[in-house]
Amino acid sequence: MKRIPEPFRIKMVEPIKMTNFADREKALAEAGYNPFLLPGDDVYIDLLTDSGTGAMSDYQWAGMMMGDESYAGSRNFYNLKDAVHHFFRYEYLVPTHQGRGAEQILFPALIRRAKDVRNADKHVFISNYHFDTTAAHVELNGGEVINVVDERAYDTTTYYDWKGDFDLEKLETAIKENGAKNITGIITTVTCNSSGGQPVSMANMRAVYEIGQKYDIPVVIDSARYCENAYFIKQREEGYRDKSITDIIREMYSYGDMLTMSAKKDPLVNIGGMCAIREKKELFQAVQTLCVPMEGFVTYGGLAGRDMEALARGLHEGADESFLHYRIGQVKYLGDRLAEGGVPIQHPTGGHAVFVDAKKIVPHIPGDQFPAQALCNALYLESGVRPVEIGSFLLGRDPATGLQKESPLELMRLAIPRRVYTNDHMDYIADALINVTKNAKDIKGFDFEYEPPVLRHFTARLKPIK
Ligand SMILES: *Cc1c(COP(=O)(O)O)cnc(C)c1O
Repeated sequence: MKRIPEPFRIKMVEPIKMTNFADREKALAEAGYNPFLLPGDDVYIDLLTDSGTGAMSDYQWAGMMMGDESYAGSRNFYNLKDAVHHFFRYEYLVPTHQGRGAEQILFPALIRRAKDVRNADKHVFISNYHFDTTAAHVELNGGEVINVVDERAYDTTTYYDWKGDFDLEKLETAIKENGAKNITGIITTVTCNSSGGQPVSMANMRAVYEIGQKYDIPVVIDSARYCENAYFIKQREEGYRDKSITDIIREMYSYGDMLTMSAKKDPLVNIGGMCAIREKKELFQAVQTLCVPMEGFVTYGGLAGRDMEALARGLHEGADESFLHYRIGQVKYLGDRLAEGGVPIQHPTGGHAVFVDAKKIVPHIPGDQFPAQALCNALYLESGVRPVEIGSFLLGRDPATGLQKESPLELMRLAIPRRVYTNDHMDYIADALINVTKNAKDIKGFDFEYEPPVLRHFTARLKPIK
């Protein structure tokens, strides 16, 4: 268990409030036992997400003052285009307000092309694992999603380096079963968020791209956490130890034709995203055409000039090796401390979060009483730390039968914002959670007080089962 010291010093602080148990009990009851409904001010350490919650550097903030707010052709757009070309070697860029903005302009364009050029009867996307908004944008456009992540991702206790990899056999089977012309795209998600921020190996990215070429299917790289993925490749994959992160990123993106990106993760901005395309000029023109009504003019796409400048600079900072060493090290440090304290976690830890296996901690709570949600609430009560549930509560009901779907995993995610909390905060979180697990048999399940019909986990209200 090694604490890697922070490769930055602090020149501005934001006070956070340490509440007491009675405050938290009241706040949680008012929030309907759903941490999404807690006011941020009632949270001491916020691990709800690593998205848009990072701290910008002095250099990024300085860039914010250099915003060129020209409606068209902002200087900051060209700076962003240069940074994108530097890392990905992709020629064509459309900025977007965040990742889903890129999805909503790229996927309809891909589907239209598949209809016109490939004469497709249906529109299937295959991914190691579709992120939820990614799947939603495919489905909103009449497409279907298939996930073919390596089975080993589901086994939390056994170590495997590449729990984000595609199962290549399943990928080819899915292509053959649906017919190659009906596969609109392959989406390589790096890292694989849904299996716990787990990396995809370079060998797997290369093999996926070769399969794409063989069947003439475009490969889209879903790029929220590509720097963390590159760092794992450098650490774990044969032949990459002496390569720079930049060179690894360039090779990764040579195994894709285009990218969508939520820049709220690795590129260290609070808002932003993009779609970039290597060479398909007609596709780019179709994406630009959709960008104007959906996101904004093609050289700003929903971002202010200053936001594009912060992003251009963040692309460089996010790929800095000493930063990544500390970043991945901090997440691993928390995971190691928890494992040492007997808390079952997804092993090894991924890039951006520690996933805690709630099923093993509160086995007495059945899936339809939301064991991972119960654990989240218990941790908040103990410590003011806000985690998020990834299990039955998130999964929801089968639309056909109305019955709660059975979740293979009941996880509590501790997502770590970038450059925000210190290693002392990690110790506080670990101590609190270890304490909670010691009294886990007293934790009770939850039932609905109010259940919204769709995406219920964001706004549902719960009540404790007596
Ligand atoms: C966050 C994320 C998205 C969506 O991006 P937003 O910026 O939240 O709209 C898409 N894919 C992955 C893998 C993500 O992590």
